[in-house]
Amino acid sequence: MEHAQVTDSTIDIKISVGAATDVGGRAQNEDSILLRPLDPVGIGPAAQAAGFLLAVADGMGGHAGGEIASRLATETLDEIFAGSTEPDIAATMKTAFRRANARIFAEGSGAEDATAMGTTMVACAIRGKYATIASVGDSRAYLVRASRLTQITQDHTVVAQQLAKGEVTPEQAKRSPARNQLMHALGHRERLHSSMPAIFELTLLPEDRLFLCSDGFYDVVEDGDVIDVVARQDPQDAARALTTLAKERQTTDNVSAIVLEAAPTRIIVAPTPAPVPSAGRSLLVPILAAIVLLAIIAAVLAFTVL
Ligand code: CA
Repeated sequence: MEHAQVTDSTIDIKISVGAATDVGGRAQNEDSILLRPLDPVGIGPAAQAAGFLLAVADGMGGHAGGEIASRLATETLDEIFAGSTEPDIAATMKTAFRRANARIFAEGSGAEDATAMGTTMVACAIRGKYATIASVGDSRAYLVRASRLTQITQDHTVVAQQLAKGEVTPEQAKRSPARNQLMHALGHRERLHSSMPAIFELTLLPEDRLFLCSDGFYDVVEDGDVIDVVARQDPQDAARALTTLAKERQTTDNVSAIVLEAAPTRIIVAPTPAPVPSAGRSLLVPILAAIVLLAIIAAVLAFTVL
């Protein structure tokens, strides 16, 4: 597990992250995960705090194509962030996703079943308390805040679109055989759609948790189980426990989980400022002292003369 300390004017947050991936119910693991500490960038007020780069990619395609696609996606993301001094994290995310799309498409065009090779990717860059999340496909990012689980990303699937239009119920969507049909993925087309990746930005509060996962997880595990596990265990144990839970619930897919915790460490109480004397009072004291001194000198002189 990795840690980073974040300080602002009132509170310290300790960011901890943990990750796990498992072959689950398949012969090969076509998911790839990334968990990388980010060094601080720049100096002065525009400097960016230390943080983490996290990602889950869920590959697809025959003849090891899925494994290659998901690995190319996380490697490209890692490389782009490692070499970037760009202060706009969302811009860096877009560059990384587009580069990953081009690399996977180029790799897939040499294969016999070129159209099948692709991957989803949900990525999260944390800088201090700021999180930037980018997504293409149906791997998900969730926020756990105040004992509630909220899905941050939207699935780029046909079924998610039908659900948004009210054409299917959430239960029908969850059981639909077409629920994994993607509208967007990395590597399927030469150019990524101009609306991709979808970007979400949020400010972490103390006690927040972020959770990234592949569909092999959320197909079989209920929201309440996620809240219980991430609230009670440190991120690395929670990530392992959640992948184990998906296997116990008999996922037929690969399963990946990344958990981030923003734990409050201490409240910094600002010292009470000392009262500042007003200009009038500060002048009054020396003037009175001078008058008293002059009176004493005058009295001494008068006494001497007499
Ligand atoms: Ca999957």
